[in-house]
Amino acid sequence: MKKYCIVANFVVPLHVFYWIMVVLDGKYIAAQIRAELKKEVADMVADGHRAPSLGIVIVGHNPASETYVANKMKACAEVGIEARKIALEESVTEAELLSCVANLNNDSSIDGFIVQLPLPPHISEQNILSAIDYRKDVDGLTPENVGRTVQGLPSIVSATPRGISELLCRYNIPTEGRHVVVIGRSNIVGKPMAILLMQRPYLLVPKMSVAAVGNATVTICHSKTRNLKDICLTADIIIVAAGSPGLLTADMVREGTTVIDVGITRVDDPATPKGYRLAGDVDFENVAPKCAYITPVPGGVGPMTIVSLLSNTLQAAKKI
Ligand code: NAD
Repeated sequence: MKKYCIVANFVVPLHVFYWIMVVLDGKYIAAQIRAELKKEVADMVADGHRAPSLGIVIVGHNPASETYVANKMKACAEVGIEARKIALEESVTEAELLSCVANLNNDSSIDGFIVQLPLPPHISEQNILSAIDYRKDVDGLTPENVGRTVQGLPSIVSATPRGISELLCRYNIPTEGRHVVVIGRSNIVGKPMAILLMQRPYLLVPKMSVAAVGNATVTICHSKTRNLKDICLTADIIIVAAGSPGLLTADMVREGTTVIDVGITRVDDPATPKGYRLAGDVDFENVAPKCAYITPVPGGVGPMTIVSLLSNTLQAAKKI
């Protein structure tokens, strides 16, 4: 069925307006934030403080993890944050990794640090994350930081939800009163994202723009959710973080929806130089024409996640 709307007394088929759809440019916004952070770091140093410092612990040689770490170090260098990489062998024991975490907790020359996930199966991620001092937990994954976020206390927010929040804010996409469907319930993305969205904004991290999202009505969906399509069709904003390429199809999205695609999956593609391409969770080609706003993959949420790690490091260095 064709849809029409009236503009200045002319009846115009609605599909004429599809070009109004905006692709949210995470690369551009992340560059903008990096420039702001660079200035903040330079001001800190000019005031006589040392530059903020970030420790990055990586275990083993997972190619995706190595790429992420390289990108994070490059981004740090760009804004003047000192990044220190601690590379440990795949065979490292949990006790040795815990000792490394304890050293970083006590190292006053490190403002914040992350342990790159995933860890090898013989190490409990939960044990490692729980051992990180929450004031240095710039991935925002310790139980203390998550609990503080839930209670609306100042906290360091997980980088991906923080990045998505920044993106929504900088494009002036309101969440107040909107129905947001979050697909995925991981500790890294789905759960903290849902918490940020449902909070009263003023209770979140003071002085940080991440505080501007909130007051949404949130539905969290996961692999056991029934009627995912029906739920998505009631959404104003859909945030997909399932790791399932093409999960969100055009028939699940009503016109004017904002779609945020968090998914990054390496899909074999012999036609590309690397032999693979990155696929999001959204069938972009068919979903995009129905959207008010949509993020691409790559170039949407990914760059925002990295820059949010830098923002979190500055937050830890300033102890706010
Ligand atoms: P995860 O595997 O921990 O969680 C996936 C979640 O999706 C689960 O809660 C599961 O219940 C849900 N799910 C899976 N299939 C589903 C389906 N068919 N219907 C409904 N729900 C379904 O993953 P994660 O760590 O949250 O990451 C999700 C995706 O986001 C991955 O592709 C990951 O690579 C990507 N990611 C991207 C960034 C970024 O910066 N862009 C950051 C983190 C994660």
